[in-house]
This record gives sequence, structure tokens and C-alpha cells, in this order.
Amino acid sequence: MSVTDAELGARIEALREELEPLQKASAEAYWELNVTGDEHWQDETARLRTEIRSLLSRPEPYGFLREAAEASGLDPLLQRQAVLLRNAHAEHQIPAETIERIVELETALENRFNTFRANLGGSSVSDNEIREVLEQSDDVELRRRAWEASKQIGVEVADELRELVRVRNAAARDLGWSSYYSMAFELDELDEAEVFAILDRVVDGSQAAWREYKRALDARQADRFGVDPSELRPWHYADPFFQEAPAQDVELDRWFEGRSIEELVTDYFDGVGFDVRATLARSDLYEREGKCQHAFCMDVDRAGDIRVLCNLRPTEYWVATLLHELGHAVYDAGIDESLPFFLRTSAHLIVTEASAMLFGRLSRSPAWLTRYAGMPEDEARVADTALAAGFRAQHLHLARWVPVMATFERELYRDPEQDLNTLWWDLVERFQWLTRPDDRRDPAAGYADWAAKIHFSIAPAYYQNYLLGEMTASQLQAHLLGLVGGGDAAWERYVATPEIARFLDDRVFSLGRSTDWRGAIEHATGRGLDPQPFLSELAGVA
Ligand SMILES: [Zn+2]
Repeated sequence: MSVTDAELGARIEALREELEPLQKASAEAYWELNVTGDEHWQDETARLRTEIRSLLSRPEPYGFLREAAEASGLDPLLQRQAVLLRNAHAEHQIPAETIERIVELETALENRFNTFRANLGGSSVSDNEIREVLEQSDDVELRRRAWEASKQIGVEVADELRELVRVRNAAARDLGWSSYYSMAFELDELDEAEVFAILDRVVDGSQAAWREYKRALDARQADRFGVDPSELRPWHYADPFFQEAPAQDVELDRWFEGRSIEELVTDYFDGVGFDVRATLARSDLYEREGKCQHAFCMDVDRAGDIRVLCNLRPTEYWVATLLHELGHAVYDAGIDESLPFFLRTSAHLIVTEASAMLFGRLSRSPAWLTRYAGMPEDEARVADTALAAGFRAQHLHLARWVPVMATFERELYRDPEQDLNTLWWDLVERFQWLTRPDDRRDPAAGYADWAAKIHFSIAPAYYQNYLLGEMTASQLQAHLLGLVGGGDAAWERYVATPEIARFLDDRVFSLGRSTDWRGAIEHATGRGLDPQPFLSELAGVA
């Protein structure tokens, strides 16, 4: 018996009637939790999320959706919803006791990360204190001990994390996948072979720029610590995982002192054709007791109730953050409201992060700083070189670090019983060109440096998105710069022409989730995800 449009339409409508109010209530509860810190909302968020999960765990709708997702001759928008709803159901088709075990392990791991304090020379230290030593201290012995302390958590959590991987894998295999990792990729519409081919291109394409950058950095560090570059070890660098570039020395905060960040950012969005006033009016922007200290954007009802949480101060960091969050908000606001509920969301996390990153980059752009923050043009010209170098350094670190994380994680799920610490250091040496410490050569020493990275515990199969999002942002930016005419004055136009909103609304945002991430990028730029614009920025030729 084959599925008809009428039947599928009715089933989707029934699911919408159940899920839409729950999703809205759960978003409201999560928002209240974050602006008040009130425990009541914690319980309410958990209760609503459990209710959603239990709806998605019913085998009968899943069976029907699987059939509809594969059927031929159906209306494309109906079938697109069937595919997404099938994917949303799939991972919940596992026995209740297995789900409980997974949640139990995840919660235990997250708590360990939250409460663990490393031991440095007999006293307990926070992550920030370890970072401070690595950023500032000239005492190499102290640096080495601080770096080692940053890895103590790994040994603490490794056994439980390995167990979590086994349980996740067993659940995925029961559902017909080869591993949890493959299941997570497929349900998130990511193709493993395609993603890793892209990572390979990034590694190859960044090789020359990385060599030049790393050689200069090593020369500086060797000089500072009075050693030969060949003697440098991970504790000679500022970041415990070498994942970020050292802080850059361009001071930008003074351009925002005494300014209203809201006004400044509203001016900019006006300039490129977006009206963010309604979003800002619904948002919670300033610090308050009990409130979440981070930032996020949330589309509460997929019908215009979009809010941003920030803790604004007049600094470049918070300007960048507000630009980033509003980059999410303009995306959500631009989605075609005539699309059905299940398609009124962004195409993929990669694309919505790309939009956010595209705007978040501007607070370090000389053209933007001149026009909106009042930086004099001659100063902007001077700052330009340093800002561009800082930007390239950040992205070079990303280009070499994400392949370590993604390759390791895929291997972790392929075989969690292998010698993971050796695998970790093999990848760190291969991509980041660090030298492993001597005591890490012996597998029997029992180190688990890989497990010190929290993402394996709390955000599985996710890390590649950071790089794919950044690459998509670069591709969109290159396309937009071309669209406004290219050439020397392109940036001045890029930061102040309504063509930007027109293009993004028409070619990206309005599509919602009627297409996947590949479709969205192709619709916008005429080709699939292309590492080249990102690589050109790394090489400094963009
Ligand atoms: Zn974001």
C-alpha cells in the first residue's frame, strides 16, 4: 500500500498539533530558566523535553514516516517534512532503559566537568587559573605543571566516557547503524565521506599558511623561553589544546566606551536592510543576578517571537556577541512564514551559524569600525594589518584543530577499545604539528588527554560544524563582496547597503528548512560548500 499526499498531510498535521504547543512551551520555559535561574523552570524544561521525546519514541508514526520518506510521487514539501520527522523520531526508537542509562552517564559526566578542580602543586585551581599561567607565566616548570593539571580531568572521566560510547553504539546498532557516530551524522543530514573529504581539503589547503604561521610562532616562543624550537612542548603555548590563537594586541574596547551598543548595532542593521528593533525589544540584554552569563538567540514560536539573551557591556567582545546573536535572529525572522511549521526553521546548524558568524566578524572589520564605531580612517588603516593577521591566526588554528577533533571522534566510535591516547597524540602531531611530551609515549602510563575535551562527553558528533559553519560564512561573505561590486571599496559598501538583507532573505533565509544545508548554500552562491574562500582568507589573498 502506498502513501498518498492526503494521508501524509493529515499525519503531519496531527503531529504538528501535538508538537507545536509543546515546543513553544519548552522554549518559553528554557527562556525563563535562563533569565531567572529559577529552579522551577529547570523542572519545567526537563518535563516538557521528556514529553516531546516520549512522543517521538512511538514506533507507529516512525514506521509510517519511514515509508513516506522513501515513497515516490509525493508532494516535495510534504515529503521533506516526512524525512525530517522520520529523522527526529529515529534516535528515540531505543528502549527506555537504554535512554535512562545514556542520560545517567551524560549527566554524571557533565557534573564531573562542572565540579572538577585540577590540582596544581597541592592546591585546587580553576580552568581560568590554568589559562592565566599559560597566557602569562615565564616559568616553564610552572607552565608544564599547569598544562598537566589541565589534563587531569581526562583520566577522571575516561572510563565513564568510554562506557557512554559503548552504550550509544549498542543503541545505534540495534537500530541498524554501524555506530552511533554514523547514525548521528546521517540523522543530521551530514555525509561522513563528504565531510571528511572537505576536512582533507582544508588540511591540505592550509598547509603552506600553517607552516609559515607556526614557524614564526615557534621562533617567538623559543626565543621567549630560551630553548631550541625542537624543544617546544604543548605547555609553551597559551592555549591548553592549542586550539585558539594567542590574544591579539589590537585594543578595540575604547571605541565602544560610553556608547549604546543597542543603538550602534541597530544603526548597522538598518544600513544593510534589516530591522532588528522588534527582536531587541523582546530581548534580555543586560547583566542581572541569577541570569545566564552567556548569550544565545531563540525562536520561541516560529511565528515572529524571536529573542536574544546577552549580558552587554560596552566592549568589543559584547559587540561581536550581539552581532552574532542578531545574525541568528535575522535568519529566523527571514524564514518564509507561509512554509509549514516543521519547515519554519533554519536549513541546518551549519547555515544558521554561518549567518551568525558573518555578522559576528564585523566588529573587527576596519570598514565597519570606521562607519559605526567612529574609528578614524587613518587609525583603521593602521589597525587593518594587525586585525587581518589576528583573524587569519584564529582561522588557521581552527583549520588544524577541528580535523583533530573530528577524526579522533570518528575513530573513538569505530573502536572505543583501541589505544586512544596514542591515537590522540598521533592526530595532534599530524594536524597541529605539536610534539607530544615524552611521558605520553607510553600507553601503559594511563593518560587520557583526549577525554579532557568536554565535547566528547556533552556534544557528540558535533565539532565539525564549527569549521563547516565558518567555511560557509567565508563563502557567503566572498559572494556578497562580489555582489556589491568587489574591488577596493567593496567593504565600505558591504557594511552599508540594503542589498545584503535582500540577498540573504531571498537566497538563504526564506527557504527555511525546505532544503538541506547543501541546497541552501548552492541556492545562495550557485555552488555547493567550497573550502576555497575560507582557504583564500587563510592565505591572506582574499
Ligand atoms: Zn551561534
